[in-house]
Amino acid sequence: MSRRLRRVGPAFYRAAARGNVGATNREWSFRMHAVEIRLPDWLAAMTLPGAPASDEACLRLALAAARGNVERKSGGPFGAVVRAEATGEVVGVGVNLAQPTGNPVLHAETVAITMASAALKAGGAFTLFTSCEPCIMCLGASHWAGFRRIVSAATKADAEAIGFSEGSGTAELRSEMAARGVAFEDGFLREEGAAVLQLYASGGGVIYGPRD
Ligand SMILES: [Zn+2]
Repeated sequence: MSRRLRRVGPAFYRAAARGNVGATNREWSFRMHAVEIRLPDWLAAMTLPGAPASDEACLRLALAAARGNVERKSGGPFGAVVRAEATGEVVGVGVNLAQPTGNPVLHAETVAITMASAALKAGGAFTLFTSCEPCIMCLGASHWAGFRRIVSAATKADAEAIGFSEGSGTAELRSEMAARGVAFEDGFLREEGAAVLQLYASGGGVIYGPRD
């Protein structure tokens, strides 16, 4: 079903604020006027590695976030960290929040990118560390974020082995990003990343994603 969106101006927004617009417009306007993305309290309380944080420290933080998300049942089995290269400071941490929020774009990487947005806006080079190779959406987000390096633990195959559908097209986008100078380092601490996925699967974790 297609829905035609009409152009709206200030009068519409004043009317919408009074709830005085058609149901269709109200549906896509003010209900989603603002959305807050909150990290789980246990994650916000975690101690970040001091700057400059090593590759291993950042990836271990991403893995600890992923494992914590499984153990506390606060989302899917994925964690991510963004590090600013100029300072070695961790500027963003994320876990998958898709299930608890109902927001399918809240993968660990997109959450970490969102949390890092002030640092990203300030500019510089950044590295993404992720407990599992990014899916096509997160790879796309990483492309737009302009990361210079992407370091991941578990592989796409490990995620697909427990039933996640990571999306085709990642090889093509990775090639394009690599051609632009993005370095990919896969399978660093792979066993630990895969173990988090297995822990989630063995605990009966929901395999969310595209429907067949
Ligand atoms: Zn993703």
